[in-house]
Amino acid sequence: MAGGLLCVHAHPDDESISTGGVLLRAVGEGRPAAVVTCTGGELGEIVGEGMDPEKLRPRLGEVRQAELTAALEILGAGTPRLLGYRDSGMAGTSGNDDERSFWRADFDQAVGRLVTQVRAFRPDVLVTYDAFGQYGHPDHVQTHRVGLVAAEAAGVPMLYPEAGEAWQVPKVYLSTLPRSFAALVSEELQRRGLPTPFEDDPDLPPVGSPDELITTTVDVRPFVERKLTALKAHASQLGPASFFLNMPPELHDLAFGTEWFIRQRSDVPAPQEDDLFAGL
Ligand SMILES: [Zn+2]
Repeated sequence: MAGGLLCVHAHPDDESISTGGVLLRAVGEGRPAAVVTCTGGELGEIVGEGMDPEKLRPRLGEVRQAELTAALEILGAGTPRLLGYRDSGMAGTSGNDDERSFWRADFDQAVGRLVTQVRAFRPDVLVTYDAFGQYGHPDHVQTHRVGLVAAEAAGVPMLYPEAGEAWQVPKVYLSTLPRSFAALVSEELQRRGLPTPFEDDPDLPPVGSPDELITTTVDVRPFVERKLTALKAHASQLGPASFFLNMPPELHDLAFGTEWFIRQRSDVPAPQEDDLFAGL
């Protein structure tokens, strides 16, 4: 199916947080939209209200797949397309060493699996993460690597010939957020006497990308409430203290109404953009 948007994500819930708006916008314009999720999110924190982490942990992958199914339905982005790897956990944790983890995945095999998905969906636009995976999570960094290579390899017939007919993706983007964003949201929350979730820890690398690298800023304010509804489908990941659940409604547009991208490649002229499909 040509003409659509394919977003490649690391865990269930990432699709709603960073690309819920562009997915809804694409669907609203009559374009097909889909999400590939590289891991099952088995190591996510279990913070959902009334959920017993100990009981839920062994079947968290299953629970999160059901949550992803519900979120994708709300977004109009089809059914889950899982790459089949295990959540690697945060950097430096034991999950990084699990042989089933995405972090330990055979690179060539992972690219081959994603090429199969790309060639089957034949998107006009493919979205993966920036080089730091937005905030350094190993699965996000791996999603960047595998996503970029698969986007290129999908168009080369001699690569992965068993993965379907070659498809050259015309536009490839990296999902990110500008460094200035955290400061902006923190300022607004503090002005209201509310705690900010953005830690100002000089020992941690900054989240997102330098503002000047961002090529494409998409206004998704018309879709903010539906985007949040999709996010809320990931109930196991949203505790009562969640940043997303506690954001005052008047800050929803500011906090969730914009999605940012770095254009990695475009086969069509697209100098100044406010739309992933500009020029197509
Ligand atoms: Zn994630």
